Amino acid sequence: MTAATEIAFENTFVRALEGLFVPWQAAPTPDARLVLLNESLARELGLDPAQLRTPEGVALLTGTTVPDSATTVAQAYAGHQFGNYSPRLGDGRALLVGELVTPDGTRRDLHLKGSGRTPFARGGDGKAPLGPMLREYVISEAMHALGVPSTRSLAVVATGEPVLRDRGPEPGAVLARTAASHLRVGTFQFAAASSAGGSRGDTATGEVDLLRRLTEYAIARHHPQASTPLEFYRAVIAAQAELIARWMQIGFVHGVMNTDNMTISGETIDYGPCAFLDAHDPSTWYSSIDSGGRYAYGNQPGIAQWNLARFGESLLGLFADSQEEAVRLATEELAGFADAYRAAHDRGYLAKIGVGTPELLADLFAVIEDQKPDHTLFFRRLSEAARGDAGPVRDLLSDSAALDPWLESWRAAGPDADAMDRVNPVYVPRNHLVEEALDAAVEGDLEPVQWLLQVLADPFTDREGYERYALPAGPDAPPFRTFCGT
Ligand code: AMP
Ligand code: MG
Repeated sequence: MTAATEIAFENTFVRALEGLFVPWQAAPTPDARLVLLNESLARELGLDPAQLRTPEGVALLTGTTVPDSATTVAQAYAGHQFGNYSPRLGDGRALLVGELVTPDGTRRDLHLKGSGRTPFARGGDGKAPLGPMLREYVISEAMHALGVPSTRSLAVVATGEPVLRDRGPEPGAVLARTAASHLRVGTFQFAAASSAGGSRGDTATGEVDLLRRLTEYAIARHHPQASTPLEFYRAVIAAQAELIARWMQIGFVHGVMNTDNMTISGETIDYGPCAFLDAHDPSTWYSSIDSGGRYAYGNQPGIAQWNLARFGESLLGLFADSQEEAVRLATEELAGFADAYRAAHDRGYLAKIGVGTPELLADLFAVIEDQKPDHTLFFRRLSEAARGDAGPVRDLLSDSAALDPWLESWRAAGPDADAMDRVNPVYVPRNHLVEEALDAAVEGDLEPVQWLLQVLADPFTDREGYERYALPAGPDAPPFRTFCGT
């Protein structure tokens, strides 16, 4: 077997996009210890899991020693955080190692989070605690198994160094993740500001081309069917409409939909304060720093459109020579988001209820938004109703009779129960289960995380003995909150 130091990375981002990164090295790790390795993902990437377990492999997964083919960089980006613009965010505690081309020809970024302070760290310590890195691992892998485009998690390595957070010192860790790329709306905001003569703007050195170079790169890498910047904008709008609709179908609340956390590829990224709905209540949010509920479950489509408006603004200079014409074109494209989202939403929810009758959706949402049953159980138990037993789904409602007229029209439409079971998960990463498993892991017991990963890897197959993984937290559980200070 070739040594981990001989893994071949490509560096198309670094070669094409000078001005969007700073070369940087990972911080040393006093006592690196591999906590989780995603062996099947490693194989998909063309990497040998045994090789990643060697000291050289672990050094690669923390960025402390990387192959000659890799150039570790901190990426620059800007972003609107909770509506407020920051011209310079960037990877404050993360590094891009390089790109792996998988045996099937797909290009994936390898990126490390928690690898030490970079020039973008501002006040942060550049580190990450074990709990939140395991959280990203568990939830991103669950999203993938649920069929939702997402970054993937390759490994979590404990660094042997404590990091200080509100709760006191916690074990430090590095997450190795892969992504179609780490290009974000915020990357374009940064490039547009540079090209417009912002902090790095300098026509003499060609910086004015940065936005154009970035756009050409993103088109080639993610949306090659687009032949103009406007078609590229349309493709990203379409990818995000599909993605947000998928989130809404599984009760996923991202929690921090800032423009720096929205990808150009259409993958979900950054699992900080995310969570899953128990009760189907559109006003639900979990993040302790989202005091106004800006990123509540039901607001996600609107926020996506808001972010895409900011994306369009960053591209205006490429749409047309006159500002007025560029704004007109961008506005027209953005208007397409609502239709694309609605179509993806309805298609997904019709699959969830196993029929092809869009007229049934409005009445269904009227009932569930009023009665707020457990989101995941409701749709899963509907297939039992399709097979003739409406008892279990009716039991989820305080006023079960309110569902009966709808059940009658729905049954008349002939729902396909088996097809429903293929799209309505039994198991999602329920907040209380994730917290319980992470608490144990931080105390040194990884077994609950391993069980959870195993259950979530196959979310659509109901298995005996795993009942508690399918149930919400009990009525006495305290309200769930997530924390961003990760
Ligand atoms: P996030 O909300 O996690 O996407 O992060 C927003 C910004 O804060 C990014 O620029 C991160 O790199 C930066 N950041 C978050 N945590 C830290 C940390 N502990 N040290 C340095 N930078 C951080
Ligand atoms: Mg982020």
